[in-house]
Amino acid sequence: MKAHDGMYIDGGWRPATGPDVIEVVNPADEQVIGRVPAGTAEDVDIAVRAARAALPAWAATAPADRAARLTALRDVLVTRAEEVAETVTAELGSPLKFSQNVHAAVPVAVAGSYAELAATYAFEEKAGNSTVYHEPIGVVAAITPWNYPLHQIVAKVAPALAAGCTVVLKPAEDTPLVAQLFAEAVHEAGVPAGVFNLVTGLGPVAGQALAGHPDVDLVSFTGSTAVGRQIGATAGAAVKKVALELGGKSANVILPSADLAKAVNVGVANVMSNSGQTCSAWTRMLVHREQYDEAVELAATAAAKYGDRIGPVVNAKQQARVRSYIEKGVAEGARLVAGGPESPCEQGYFVSPTVFADVTPDMTIAQEEIFGPVLSILRYEDEEDALRIANGTVYGLAGAVWAGDEAEAVAFARRLETGQVDINGGRFNPLAPFGGYKQSGVGRELGSHGLAEYLQTKSLQF
Ligand code: NAP
Ligand code: MG
Repeated sequence: MKAHDGMYIDGGWRPATGPDVIEVVNPADEQVIGRVPAGTAEDVDIAVRAARAALPAWAATAPADRAARLTALRDVLVTRAEEVAETVTAELGSPLKFSQNVHAAVPVAVAGSYAELAATYAFEEKAGNSTVYHEPIGVVAAITPWNYPLHQIVAKVAPALAAGCTVVLKPAEDTPLVAQLFAEAVHEAGVPAGVFNLVTGLGPVAGQALAGHPDVDLVSFTGSTAVGRQIGATAGAAVKKVALELGGKSANVILPSADLAKAVNVGVANVMSNSGQTCSAWTRMLVHREQYDEAVELAATAAAKYGDRIGPVVNAKQQARVRSYIEKGVAEGARLVAGGPESPCEQGYFVSPTVFADVTPDMTIAQEEIFGPVLSILRYEDEEDALRIANGTVYGLAGAVWAGDEAEAVAFARRLETGQVDINGGRFNPLAPFGGYKQSGVGRELGSHGLAEYLQTKSLQF
């Protein structure tokens, strides 16, 4: 795999200030596929200064000019889609088809949506005797995880650029190659020097330096709740705006009137895709007691069909973590009906698609985010019981409701404490705001709500 040995700062690839490197490993075969520099606080500082210097001119561009650059960026992502897919498959391990259809395709849709929004958004409005201007918030620190590595970058950088902000990105250490490819795409799209900057490096070093940098105006973070809490505290102390997209433990609620087989099969596919490494995955399936046994059998059959086709999880640590959750599920009395803790392959960080039945709401596997291909099926007595179970975690990122009648599903969904609900298998919409209730986060990404995160208002009274 192609890897730059520098950082993309101020419009070019410049050498890192320190000697440290990160080895990028293919999780399917455990081979090193590239090396990138591990940035230091000094690299971060250089990048933030470049972003600060580029801010006044970029913030002053007409929205139509920013829209043109975003359209060009979208077009480069289309041209280089195959390269994106191959890179994500190599460093994340997802099957190539999934990389093509999701990891490469969704960023094109999101970049395109912000090209359009930049051109059409009301950056100026009237309110009584005032004119309200929506101005860029300034220099943005973007810190992203590895699970949808390009999507998470584009979901921050595209709206930031549309708003007129400049950016320093610190991508996940496991997936820096697609971030470098993205920097190339930004360059090819003709985005001016310093508007977008990339510092590869480790979370506790480069990430922490970036999140705490005094000259950053907004920190936008996607990742674990533990790190997000720390970043939120640092930003709060500095009176800095922060956006946090954190963990999830979403419920897939199957009401008795639903098409059970469809709801179960789509639910299993949702959890197993990307090897379960999806923050919004419906990892808890809630089924009425009278349909419970049938649902468990359907889910076990569906999961068994996947085998190792789902691809590995991202690294050895994640594999060990997921397997220990599976062991905990068994130890706490849940019933294993598919998969288990043993790895299905000798090489690579694989985990068997796993389904647990007889899971109760208080069990660890029903409360904590596992971030692997593990589904828990819970039994409910009636609708009120289902609602209590669905809302009974610290998270509230996503969810699903299935019912024979759409209105019935909507009525239930309105009572869920969560940011997104798919009704009877509703499709992903890149314009819909994405983000969490409760400890799943602060703020929203995507669409016009995602753009608003990067803006602040100035009111002029007449
Ligand atoms: P993570 O450890 O929190 O890492 C996320 C990013 O933060 C990485 O770039 C990481 O660098 C960096 N980081 C780590 N420690 C840091 C620190 N002290 N200061 C600043 N930055 C730091 O998360 P992960 O385990 O890699 O990713 C999976 C998590 O992301 C899951 O919990 C998942 O639910 C969540 N997620 C949430 C959403 C959402 O939209 N709500 C979307 C996707 C994923 P390194 O790579 O070097 O560790
Ligand atoms: Mg990490």
